[in-house]
Amino acid sequence: MGMMKKKSEEKPKFRSIVHAVQAGIFVERMYRKSYHMVGLAYPEAVIITLKDVDKWSFDVFALNEASGEHSLKFMIYELFTRYDLINRFKIPVSCLICFAEALEVGYSKYKNPYHNLIHAADVTQTVHYIMLHTGIMHWLTELEILAMVFAAAIHDYEHTGTTNNFHIQTRSDVALLYNDRSVLENHHVSAAYRLMQEEEMNVLINLSKDDWRDLRNLVIEMVLSTDMSGHFQQIKNIRNSLQQPEGIDKAKTMSLILHAADISHPAKSWQLHHRWTMALMEEFFLQGDKEAELGLPFSPLCDRKSTMVAQSQIGFIDFIVEPTFSLLTDSTEKIITPLIEEASKTETPSYGASSVDLFRRSNMKGTMNDGTYSPDYSLASVDLKSFKNNLVDIIQQNKERWKELAAQGEPDLHKNSEDLVNAEEKHADTHS
Ligand SMILES: [Zn+2]
Repeated sequence: MGMMKKKSEEKPKFRSIVHAVQAGIFVERMYRKSYHMVGLAYPEAVIITLKDVDKWSFDVFALNEASGEHSLKFMIYELFTRYDLINRFKIPVSCLICFAEALEVGYSKYKNPYHNLIHAADVTQTVHYIMLHTGIMHWLTELEILAMVFAAAIHDYEHTGTTNNFHIQTRSDVALLYNDRSVLENHHVSAAYRLMQEEEMNVLINLSKDDWRDLRNLVIEMVLSTDMSGHFQQIKNIRNSLQQPEGIDKAKTMSLILHAADISHPAKSWQLHHRWTMALMEEFFLQGDKEAELGLPFSPLCDRKSTMVAQSQIGFIDFIVEPTFSLLTDSTEKIITPLIEEASKTETPSYGASSVDLFRRSNMKGTMNDGTYSPDYSLASVDLKSFKNNLVDIIQQNKERWKELAAQGEPDLHKNSEDLVNAEEKHADTHS
C-alpha cells in the first residue's frame, strides 16, 4: 500500500505477464475470501425452504431443520437482505451475523418448548408476510421496516418459559427489576439492546442519532405491546381510532402487526397450528410442574392433569385471535385502499410514485437465489380480499378440527373424570 501511494502517479508495472496474472489471481482470491468471511453461506436445503418465505404456509420447522437449528439467523439475514436494510443502514454484515447468533443463544437459554428461536423466526416471517401482502410496506418508511423486522426478531429474547404472573408470584429478579410491569417484555428489549453495547454486535452502529432514537422508541413500544395483559385495551384503542378522522397511528399499527403475528399460529395450517399448540401446552405444563413443586396454585392451562386443550384453543381463537385478525384486516384496508387509489391515478403503469417505492419494489422482486421467479409486490397487485379470506378460512377450519377433538373427549390427552363428565354434558347439550 505504501509503495502504491508513493508511486500513485505512475502506471503499475509488472516485471512479466506472469506477475501480472499472479497479482490478478491474488486480488480475486482476496476478494472472494473476504466476501465469504463476511457474508452468510446458505446451505442448499436452506435455499429450498426459503423459496416459500413470502407464503402464509411457510414451514419454519423445515427451515429450522435445513439450517441445523439456525432458523432465526437465516430468517434475519434473508429479510435484512430482501428489504435492502444492510445497505440502507450500513449494517456491518459481520455484526449482523454475530448479533443473530447471540440472539439464538439467548432464545435457547431455557430450552423452552415454545418460546424458542423457532417461534422468533416464525413471528419474523409472519410480520414479513403481513407487510408484503397487505401492502403496508409501501406505507412504512425504511426505518419503520427495519423496526418491524428487528422487533419481531428480538421480541421474546431470553424468554424464561414462564409467564409474567409466575415471575411476579415467585418474586423473581426480573419481576423486582421491572416492578411487576410487563416483566418479560421489558427484559426482551433491554437484554437485546444490551447485546448491541458490544462493538462486534452493534448492528445499529451507523444509524444517525435521530434514526437510532426513533427506531428505539418504535421497538420498545412494539415489543411491550406483545404483553397479553394489554391485549383488550390495545384492540379497543385501535378499534376506536378507526372511527377517527385523523387516521391510524403508525406505531400503533406496527404494534398490532407484531401482536397479530405473535398469536398467528391458530391462523396457520392445521399441521403447523397443532404442533405449536402442543409445544405451548408443554411449556405451560412445565410451569405447572414448577408451581406444584413450590406449593403454588396452578396458573390457568398449567395443570397437565386437568387442562382441556381443545376447549381452550377454541376459546383463544374466539376471544383473542379472530378479533385481532379482523382488526388487522380492517386497519390495513383503511390505510392501504386510499394509497392504491392514489397510485392508480398516476400515469405510470407500474404505479411507481416515489423513487423509494421503485427502489423497494425492485429489491423485493426476483431476489430468489435461483432467479426463477419474480413476483409483483407493487401496490397495484395487493389483494386485500384474498389476504382476509385466506385467514378467515384457515381459522374456521382449525376451529372445526378442535371441536371434533373436543367432542371425542380429547383421547390423546390425559384427563380426569370430572372433565370427562363436563365434556359429555357439553356433548349432550349440543345434541338436545
Ligand atoms: Zn412471542
